[in-house]
Amino acid sequence: MGVGAAALALLLAACGTAAQADQENSVAQQNSESAATAKPKPKASVQPTPVPSVKASWSPASGDKTIYLTFDDGPGPYTQKVLDVLKDNDVKATFFIIGKMIRTREADLQRVYDDGHATGDHTWDHADLSRMNAVQIDRQLNKAAVAIGPKMGPCMRPPYGALDAEARKLAVSYGMTPVLWTRDTNDWNKASQTQIYNVLMGAKPGDVILMHDGGGDRANTVAALRDALPKLKDKGYSFASVPVCVSHTTQ
Ligand SMILES: [Zn+2]
Repeated sequence: MGVGAAALALLLAACGTAAQADQENSVAQQNSESAATAKPKPKASVQPTPVPSVKASWSPASGDKTIYLTFDDGPGPYTQKVLDVLKDNDVKATFFIIGKMIRTREADLQRVYDDGHATGDHTWDHADLSRMNAVQIDRQLNKAAVAIGPKMGPCMRPPYGALDAEARKLAVSYGMTPVLWTRDTNDWNKASQTQIYNVLMGAKPGDVILMHDGGGDRANTVAALRDALPKLKDKGYSFASVPVCVSHTTQ
């Protein structure tokens, strides 16, 4: 019986790793729903293929005077407000998009592109990729990439910054360079407008700054940005989209 075999397979899995290889084969032959709920999760039935031009990571070159603003978790109710501030200051940034958010916010995403910003993949529903198997990682990244569309830049940012070796290898195999950050405004953690402003004003050349246009109330982010951007420009800083996120199709 299929059910008996599945139960046995789960029992074996629960007993440890000795029977794991067989267990994975067994589970992989079941339908995807039961495979997704089995523990441990089936390993790679998605085989990474290296893309030579894609880097395993990106960080700014030393001596780079540019600041790279990045906005995660949108599009959301504050995306247009962030875009307004960026436009008023003639600043280009990078938006790491959650795929499922686009269903109700296509106009926001369109304006991100129309205003000349870059985008990257932030998974379908803000998944912790380090806790997922290859099939799940594949679904998270590629379902989001399809939703974000052909103008998406060839880069990704793992939610929570959580990227293990397997997820990194898969992302690169899909042509997405992982991009983390060097400075965190903590706007995701209820930082005040002043706190966010102070982090922004402390930026150093080459910083990749973590901010959010989605995922919650971002009024402090918008207000801090409006105060800080003109002053940072006065200090001689310039701003750009993360270079590895600049899509060929937007140039
Ligand atoms: Zn995020």
